[in-house]
Amino acid sequence: MNGKSTFTWQCLLIVLPVLFLATAGIVSLRKDHETVTVEARRTAERFGKQLLHLLSAELGASSFPADEPFPDQPGPTIPALWTHGSIVDGDGNLLTVGPHQAPGNYARQPAVSPFSLELLDARAAKLWVTARTAEQGEKNAAISAHQEFIASDPPEPFHSNAQYTHAVLLEASGQTERALDLLRLLEPTSELTETGLPLAVLARFHSLKILSHELRHGRIHPTDFDAAIRDFCSRAIEYPSFATSSLFALATQHVEDFGEEFLLTVQSGQMAWAADENTRAFHKSVQPFPARDEMPEQTFWAQWNGMPYLVLLVEANASVLRTPNAQLFEMRVFPEKVIRRSVRRLLSNTSLQSPPYVEPAVFLEERQITESEPAGEVLATVEETSAVAGSPAGKLRINLHLAAPALLYAQQRQRAFWFGGLIVVAAATGLIGYVTAQNAFRRQLRLNKMKSDFVASVSHELRAPIASVRLMAEGLEHGTVQQPEKQQRYYRFIVQECRRLSALIENVLDFSRIEQDRKFYDIESTDIMELVRHTADLMQPCADERSVRIEVEIEGKSTEPAVEADLDGKAIQQALVNLIDNAIKHSPPKSVVVVGCRLPAEGDRFSLFVEDRGEGIPADEHKRIFERFYRHGSELRRETQGAGIGLSIVKHIVEAHDGTVRLRSRVGEGSRFTIELPLHRTGGSNPKTTI
Ligand code: ADP
Repeated sequence: MNGKSTFTWQCLLIVLPVLFLATAGIVSLRKDHETVTVEARRTAERFGKQLLHLLSAELGASSFPADEPFPDQPGPTIPALWTHGSIVDGDGNLLTVGPHQAPGNYARQPAVSPFSLELLDARAAKLWVTARTAEQGEKNAAISAHQEFIASDPPEPFHSNAQYTHAVLLEASGQTERALDLLRLLEPTSELTETGLPLAVLARFHSLKILSHELRHGRIHPTDFDAAIRDFCSRAIEYPSFATSSLFALATQHVEDFGEEFLLTVQSGQMAWAADENTRAFHKSVQPFPARDEMPEQTFWAQWNGMPYLVLLVEANASVLRTPNAQLFEMRVFPEKVIRRSVRRLLSNTSLQSPPYVEPAVFLEERQITESEPAGEVLATVEETSAVAGSPAGKLRINLHLAAPALLYAQQRQRAFWFGGLIVVAAATGLIGYVTAQNAFRRQLRLNKMKSDFVASVSHELRAPIASVRLMAEGLEHGTVQQPEKQQRYYRFIVQECRRLSALIENVLDFSRIEQDRKFYDIESTDIMELVRHTADLMQPCADERSVRIEVEIEGKSTEPAVEADLDGKAIQQALVNLIDNAIKHSPPKSVVVVGCRLPAEGDRFSLFVEDRGEGIPADEHKRIFERFYRHGSELRRETQGAGIGLSIVKHIVEAHDGTVRLRSRVGEGSRFTIELPLHRTGGSNPKTTI
């Protein structure tokens, strides 16, 4: 028990440090992983800050966006949206587009609402109706009717409209000079026709038409024509209407014959108008503006024509509109695509060294402007209030994603693999060592017990016969045994006991030699039959004592002449003696023990066997009975004599002769031990050898 607890402590002293080291190893592996992550976060944040700096410099530069056409948006309209600031008031109403004031929402269809005649007195009303009716008839009459109406000094819008029709009629009747003079008078007016068209624009368009005719006949200088085109364009932009597009188209027709230069002037006017159109349309579609917070300036994303736009409302100088007290904002609009393109270009061109495992996602005012949200956890986030094209544009944020964790953790994984492997190997070695030590310890305990049982058995085997021999010898010596038959029986008994004792001692000595590896065999040619018969005879007295009969049985080929084998006769005899002794011990009285030899007709092997009709051996003991010190049953009961070494000696002797021992036994039916040996030893026919 004491030895056991000492052993347990020793094992714990070995296993506990191994377990402790393994746990410490696992903890440090986890720490290693955390350290790598923390370091990656730091690196990502550093990179993010540098990138943020570059991005805000790029987007915030007042030259942004670089003046180049946007590939997906042909035509000038989109760039014009951000190059022309437009003014909105505090309530989000569009006040200007470009440098000119405009009505904003004009009708898309002609209004066709006749002027109310109630504005005229009875005479003027009559003259107006007459003039309008005369327009359908003869030209001079119509001209006179209009002159008469104008002379009555009617109020607006009748006056301007009549003047315009008068000019058109004059031009139609060939009075070009007068027509032009009249049209020039109309230029500053802001009146509309009955169909809702601005008169000033119509007047200038008409002048342009007349002058193109004049230029064709060389009656005016081209510079005058150029001035007329510019006047028309500026008025068309200033007073947009549903007909502006058609007027520009007609104007193009009137100028295209006179050279590229005039055409370009019309086209640039048309482009400016189109840009204003877009601004108006955009403004209308994003109305109402999102609720404004404390800050007067505002940034928001708006959707227009299926595309997102960043809208910046930047406080503007109210003097722009000569209304110093109003709160005004310049509306600046940037297509998301343009911002996206700049960010993409910057990310791919930057000399900034991005950590290989990091992928940035850029957000402007909470809208992602990098291609797609990268996968992986966010290692760091950096943000700052940024500007776009020099105007405050809300928050610019960069999320740094861990896009390639395999790259980041590659080295750490390798370390974990090797270190983890070492931990597992160390732990497994500790465990295997512990189990092996425990098994060895158990085996040692069992062996110790067997050894002490062996000593007890041998002592017992020696003490009892010695005591009987001594008593009988003393009786004979002192003459207390007088009858000659009794004396004879005593002598026989003494001889038998001495023979058995010497056999036991021989066994013990042999066992000791085997244990110390000092057992040698003298191999010589031996007559097998003779050996078997002699051994059976030798054991006969022992069998007689227990009323057991020994029969010798020779199987196989003829025994004439004698069959000889190369073996140590004494050793094989000792093995046979042990087997016969066991058979006698385990045989019931009056039973037969067969000692035999089998000589096969062919082959180089023969076998010796000992068979009894005893109690038999359970199958699970067939192997163990050949172990040293093994004895069946409890030592206390001592059912048979013996020390538990007989069969182990048999096995050793037989194996030293390159043979095998087999057992066939069934409980209740008896046992048969067979020794199979080679007839001749390889390497020599019959010389005396020692092994
Ligand atoms: P022992 O000195 O006890 O005979 P052995 O090594 O010769 O030691 O035998 C070991 C055990 O094998 C015996 O204790 C016995 O139980 C069993 N044994 C051997 N021979 C026989 C047999 N012929 N019949 C039954 N049991 C046997």
